[in-house]
Amino acid sequence: MPKEPNVRIITLGCAKNEVDSEEIAGVLRGAGYAVDGAAKNPEVTVINTCGFLQKAQEESIEAIRKAVRSKGGGKVIVAGCLAQRMGQELARLAPGADAYIGVGQMGRFDEIVKTTLSSREQWFDVEPPHHKWAEVETRVRTGKPWSAYLKISEGCDHQCTFCTIPSFRGKHQSKPIERVVAEARNLVRTGALELNLIAQDVTQYGFDLYKEFTLPKLLRELNAIDGLRWIRLLYFYPNRLTDEVIEAMATLEKVLPYIDIPLQHVHPDVLRRMKRPWDGERYLKLFEKLRKAMPMAAIRTTFIVGFPGETDAEFKSLMEFTREARLDRVGAFHFSREPGTPSYDLPGQIPHRVKKQRFDQLMRLQQGISHEINQSYVGKPIEVLIDENRDGWSAGRSFRDAPEIDGLVFVAGQHTLGTVVDAVVDHVTPYDLYGHVEGSPSGQKRVLTPLRQVAPKSPQ
Ligand code: SF4
Repeated sequence: MPKEPNVRIITLGCAKNEVDSEEIAGVLRGAGYAVDGAAKNPEVTVINTCGFLQKAQEESIEAIRKAVRSKGGGKVIVAGCLAQRMGQELARLAPGADAYIGVGQMGRFDEIVKTTLSSREQWFDVEPPHHKWAEVETRVRTGKPWSAYLKISEGCDHQCTFCTIPSFRGKHQSKPIERVVAEARNLVRTGALELNLIAQDVTQYGFDLYKEFTLPKLLRELNAIDGLRWIRLLYFYPNRLTDEVIEAMATLEKVLPYIDIPLQHVHPDVLRRMKRPWDGERYLKLFEKLRKAMPMAAIRTTFIVGFPGETDAEFKSLMEFTREARLDRVGAFHFSREPGTPSYDLPGQIPHRVKKQRFDQLMRLQQGISHEINQSYVGKPIEVLIDENRDGWSAGRSFRDAPEIDGLVFVAGQHTLGTVVDAVVDHVTPYDLYGHVEGSPSGQKRVLTPLRQVAPKSPQ
């Protein structure tokens, strides 16, 4: 029996790419390939690239060059966003790979590997994306068994002038509701307590298939799954967070009062130049409505500083909004001038020095706000999903903490991974909470040495 070729998959970029790579791994295993992320001399190396911002593209190109240098007699397949975005141009920038395959091809990756292994010619398949999802059961879980990403749709119909994603992830395409529920059941069956629902815009779910926005219906179906404990939603689009969605979130027991809603800016003129809806005033009203329906709601957003033409007054309005909104978390990015986007050619490009000043100002303001909000948890009980144990502490996350992007809750002592413990908060930093489990042998308060570096102002 010939030894089946072994395949190594390298994943770059966001959680959506992680899910795609897990699907690719499942399809290949199903076709008899040995998929091993640590394989030394794999017959095939698949690089699932990221094509979002300049920095991510450079990282992907470097990964391709490295894999080509060490491929020996093996094959290199470049997949994902950068292959889709650049196609032949990528083969010029990072030559030597054997195939360049666009996004959404997870379900047919066995054919792709077979063709590449049997072909001497370099080949391309970067047709406009039409996502072919792999069968539900095939997905090979790579992360923590108790927490999983569940991609409910792909692509985006919005046209934000700074964003390249629609150009390579394509138009919005929902997974049929039965399929999402079946995938959720499969993830729970394989150990998931927490499902993090992801898309470019979760609020757009279902419209392309059912001619109506179907997120509330999907949440009701997921909420009925036994064994599932937490449902978290990532990436709301501001003007689609409807009363029906808010009502579903507020009433369905397993749906966390966690709202990740990238606003990008709040000044109406900047939002108009970004081709994004509403303004700061309407966002504040929305947050008021959310907090009324879910008093415990944890809200995070993302802003772009230094968008072309951003005046001092426009930036000042962003600072005032941040002061007034008092959000749990704010992430910020310097505007990145991406070729092929309308904002690339906008007048009034802002110098890097000014972008940096505005970024630092905004982050310093938010750090104080996050610290004050974290302090309001001192002495209070909070449920913590334990992700890891280190240095005599367990590190985990509460309803307020999405994986990889938010803070952590450190619980004194060692607790079972993948379980939810009831902790009491003793101490905080601007990013993390520290606590103990009542009555646990290691329950007494410990001298605190922050396990994650905070900005200069120390928590003590
Ligand atoms: S909604 Fe998000 S993914 Fe869609 S175009 Fe805007 S920034 Fe890009």
